[in-house]
Amino acid sequence: MGTRGRELVEVDVNELIDLLNKALADEWLAYYQYWIGAKVVTGPLRESVIVELEEHANDELRHAGMLVDRILQLGGTPILKPEDWYKLTNCGYDAPEDPSVKKILAQNIKGEQCAIAVYKKIADMVKDKDVITYNMAVSILVDEVEHEDDLQQIEEDLKGV
Ligand code: FE
Ligand code: FE
Ligand code: MG
Repeated sequence: MGTRGRELVEVDVNELIDLLNKALADEWLAYYQYWIGAKVVTGPLRESVIVELEEHANDELRHAGMLVDRILQLGGTPILKPEDWYKLTNCGYDAPEDPSVKKILAQNIKGEQCAIAVYKKIADMVKDKDVITYNMAVSILVDEVEHEDDLQQIEEDLKGV
C-alpha cells in the first residue's frame, strides 16, 4: 500500500487483514451456497426464488472482490487455497441437501444474519480509524441487510401459497 495510504490506518493492520480474510472465506462459501442453491431448488415460487438466489450469488462474489482489493492495498495476502475457506469462515456453509424452497431460504437467511454481524463488527472496529475499510464494510453491510430482507419477504409470500 502507498505510504500515505498506510498512515491513514489507525488499527493493527495484521489483525484487520485477518478479519478481512475471514470475511472473504464467508463470501466465497455464501457465493457457492447461493449459486448451487439456485441450481437445485425445488418447490413453490421456484422461478422467482432462483432469480433472487442468483442475484445474491453475484453480490457475494462482488463482495469477495472488494475484500481482496482492500487486503492487497493493506499489504496482506488474500486466501489463496479453497481449503482455507473452511478453516477461516465465521458463518460456515450449509449444504442444500434438502433443496426445498423453505429450507434453502432458512439456510441463507441464517447466513445473512451471520454476515450482518461480521460486517457490523468490522465497521465498529475501523470506525474513525480507517475510513476506506469503514466505507467498504458499510457498503457490504447495506447489501447483506437487503439480502436478509429479500429472503424474509419471500418467506412471507410463501405463507400465502
Ligand atoms: Fe456478502
Ligand atoms: Fe448476502
Ligand atoms: Mg435481492
